Amino acid sequence: ENLRELLLSRIHDVPDYPKPGVMFKDITPLLADAQAFGALTDALVDLCERCDADKVVGLEARGFILAAPVAVRAGVGFVPVRKAGKLPGATLSQAYDLEYGTAEIEIHADALAPGDRVLVIDDVLATGGTAEASLKLIRRAGAEVAGVAVLMELGFLPGRERLEPALEGAPLAAL
Ligand code: IMP
Repeated sequence: ENLRELLLSRIHDVPDYPKPGVMFKDITPLLADAQAFGALTDALVDLCERCDADKVVGLEARGFILAAPVAVRAGVGFVPVRKAGKLPGATLSQAYDLEYGTAEIEIHADALAPGDRVLVIDDVLATGGTAEASLKLIRRAGAEVAGVAVLMELGFLPGRERLEPALEGAPLAAL
């Protein structure tokens, strides 16, 4: 509970960013605070070990920052899921719906192997669309979903409900 308070106090609400009417959760103050970032990393490493993951997937871009130290500390590999067109090798891609329009994310086709157990990490779960698409990619790459961990769930958006079927019983952990 102390951890939660510490982390929440380091996440700033920025109104009307990136467009009017949106309240943006800015995690840069948390990243700049060694104690808070360290405590978050500890908690995520613990989760990684408890769900028996042997790979960590970070979702572009803030998911990279949170996931990389977890991978090193847990002694497992890091795999990026990127926006379309950014990965140099052969990729699998997955389109998903946004509030207006669609988006596409990709993973290297050879990044995961059958039997890999993957923990997905991102900063914010909003509609759940990005996380849902990433789970599809992981399964299409032949791997298993060990769990999803986000720093924060935006309570006013039904992200958890949207993600639930795609979890297929894997845990979704949020701060
Ligand atoms: P979703 O697909 O609607 O769940 O949106 C999640 C993605 O958008 C994540 O990769 C987040 O990094 C990003 N995102 C959405 N809202 C916010 C926010 O308020 N702060 C930071 N990132 C956000």
